[in-house]
Amino acid sequence: MDLPVDEWKSYILQKWSLLPKSIQVTISTAKTLNDLFLHSSLLLQPEDEMFLKRLSGGYLVGKDPDASLFYREKGNKKFQEKDYMGATVLYSKGVSHSGPNSTDISLCYANRSAALFHLGQYETCLKDIVRAQTHGYPERLQPKLLLRKAECLVTLGRPQEASQTISDLESNFAAKPTVSASQFQILQRTLCRVKVKVQEKKNLPEIFPEALTKTFEGVDLREENEQIPCASSSVSLHIDPLKGRYLVATKDILPGELLVKEDAFVSVLNPGEMPPRPHGLENKWDIQVTSGDLHCHRCLRRTLAPVPCDGCSYAKYCSQECMQQAWDRYHSVECSLGALLLTLGVFCHVALRSALLARFEDVDEVIEKLCGEMSKQGICLPESEDPAQILKYDLRGEGEKKDEAVVTPIPGCDINGKYERNYNAVFHLLPHTENHSPEHKFLCALSVSALCRQLEAAGLQAFTTDLKPTKLKAAETPVLCAELNVWGVAMLRHMLQLQCNAQAITTIQHTGSKENLITDTQQVRLATAVFPVLSLLNHSCSPNISVSFIGTIATIRALQLIRRGQEIFHCYGPHESRMGVAERRQKLRSQYFFDCNCPPCERERQRPSAGPGREAFRCHCCRALLQGDDVLSCGGPACMESVSRDLLVSRLQDLQRQVGAAQKRLRNGRLELATQLLLECQSDAKSFLSADHSVVGEIEDTLAQAYAALGDWEKSATHLQESLRVVEVHHGPSSVEMGHELFKLAQVFFNGCAIPEALTTIQKAEKVLLVHYGPWNDEIRELQKMKSCLLDLLPIPGGPKE
Ligand SMILES: [Zn+2]
Ligand SMILES: [Zn+2]
Ligand SMILES: [Zn+2]
Ligand SMILES: [Zn+2]
Repeated sequence: MDLPVDEWKSYILQKWSLLPKSIQVTISTAKTLNDLFLHSSLLLQPEDEMFLKRLSGGYLVGKDPDASLFYREKGNKKFQEKDYMGATVLYSKGVSHSGPNSTDISLCYANRSAALFHLGQYETCLKDIVRAQTHGYPERLQPKLLLRKAECLVTLGRPQEASQTISDLESNFAAKPTVSASQFQILQRTLCRVKVKVQEKKNLPEIFPEALTKTFEGVDLREENEQIPCASSSVSLHIDPLKGRYLVATKDILPGELLVKEDAFVSVLNPGEMPPRPHGLENKWDIQVTSGDLHCHRCLRRTLAPVPCDGCSYAKYCSQECMQQAWDRYHSVECSLGALLLTLGVFCHVALRSALLARFEDVDEVIEKLCGEMSKQGICLPESEDPAQILKYDLRGEGEKKDEAVVTPIPGCDINGKYERNYNAVFHLLPHTENHSPEHKFLCALSVSALCRQLEAAGLQAFTTDLKPTKLKAAETPVLCAELNVWGVAMLRHMLQLQCNAQAITTIQHTGSKENLITDTQQVRLATAVFPVLSLLNHSCSPNISVSFIGTIATIRALQLIRRGQEIFHCYGPHESRMGVAERRQKLRSQYFFDCNCPPCERERQRPSAGPGREAFRCHCCRALLQGDDVLSCGGPACMESVSRDLLVSRLQDLQRQVGAAQKRLRNGRLELATQLLLECQSDAKSFLSADHSVVGEIEDTLAQAYAALGDWEKSATHLQESLRVVEVHHGPSSVEMGHELFKLAQVFFNGCAIPEALTTIQKAEKVLLVHYGPWNDEIRELQKMKSCLLDLLPIPGGPKE
């Protein structure tokens, strides 16, 4: 997904292996990114471009009336089955495949409005009705739409507008009796019903639905940092030859304190699993739903009713405003390149978009920076921070005087030493050119070259389009292709930077069936983004902050007490609770090019064989834990048992398959069968796995879900508490995983009316989740609602005596 599709990857790797040794050497030893780019792009042949074009041809990204019809019919089917959510998503797909101002699009919008009505999404339903009308909804069908509009307005407590709609409708009837007699009767009946509702509502004061979703702007930094505008004054930026740039606490920081609130400089929604379709396939259109169907391609907000780009079928937005913004800033260039960008992968897409966004800053300065550094310093873009230079920088901790020789600002900062969320900061993120393999660099360079050729061929003049007329006059002079080369080098730089600097934007997705009364959550990757401030943080396998996302905004909160002077650490992925030390260090070495020496790594390295660990097997005779490598022997005092690891591993795999089968039954509502199978799994697990094994926890969690679905809250709570114990052993008491599990337990106690237990659990869950997410999180608000509901049920101590 991040890198180009496999077919292109292997094609380029083969091309590389067939290159004469001398050329391979020239490319491998290229001193600068500019050399690397120029040497490689000369090797891109027309047949390579043809091959790439064939690969891209598999992606359906254009408009197609047949697809529109296909999705609308599929949607209608779901609608009839009363699966309104499923219908909504399919109508959305229909919308994106129809051209603007066509009957197709208006029908899809109208049908979607009906599904949204049933989902109780009245505001969104009204929007879709307007959209259907502006795109030319057929006159003869208008009455149905107007009635729905009136019903929405009534439900929303807007009776005046509803009456207006009804009188429009009545005059519509009078003027054009286009409806059949039977239809007319149905309409008349509905109309009467709505009129009654309008009368009822009119006697009530007009209710304005309070803005339900408190906007994120409400969350603010207590005191803004002068040097880093989106960070709090509790941190400061430092630099050192070994660590590079990093952030340090300027005062004692309490758990939950907001340290950074940063909007991504650039973000690209992950397309999800979207394999190119082979040609000539019968059923070309898939009805699979990906995050690309449910989230705005610009702001990433979840939306049930996206509006599509007028020119393609893959870019969808939450609103007209987002669509316009995206178009103005980058999509006007990207629109015709959709298939190519899907083929070349998300990193290439982020690289292009970063370059396109750079045009909105001081273009002169950007071009000057790119050209200047290419020509003056022997065609060299800053590749890494020269340690000799860095030594001249002073640690700028508070208390120290700034008048001591601060020779150059820290890379990425402006002349005033300010580190802004801008292209300059992005440009200075390290590409680690010397660490990437020659093959990888060749793949990136050829992919970017192919993209540049396409930009050129499309005559898009992407980078000379007049954005800021005054600024661009001076930059217009270089011919397009020369300038395109400059941007090509910049894009190559971004592509190489992304391996270490891309940040995944994740979201919590609620899984499980609708009937499921307890919420199961799963973290999913939504987009790939660049956050210049977040990128300043170094890694630890046991970080002291937690990062969460709302749309494209990242918030960093302290996870624990951070003392003044301590460094702020982010986890790049390999967390101590998820991987062993060897696996973590291997991953960090290969992806991020460093050896981790964080405290957990040091600790685990000094005591490499600290017992069998959490995921241990146990002896079937005496139940003591087994130890050893290929052959495990029992640690019990008087037991001589030994067993091969392969045997235990295959037994574990069998068990996992059984658990999977039980989960599937649970999803399909076959509760008794699922429970029975899970109880068998539980006793099997007990016979050979340690009590803290993650599979044991998973079984307990699933059992809790099954009992909840059966309405046996007491049993559900017992199993959930077992699962909670395993989660705590693996992730720690204040982990986000623990927070989600406590949330579930609170729901179970709440549903089972166990008031005191529910209140204590709510308190615990709130405490953990607040640290990670802050007060505006959905789960926290849900917990607060439960709490106030429970407090109403409690007898008031010392209350009025009857
Ligand atoms: Zn949006
Ligand atoms: Zn488009
Ligand atoms: Zn580590
Ligand atoms: Zn034993």
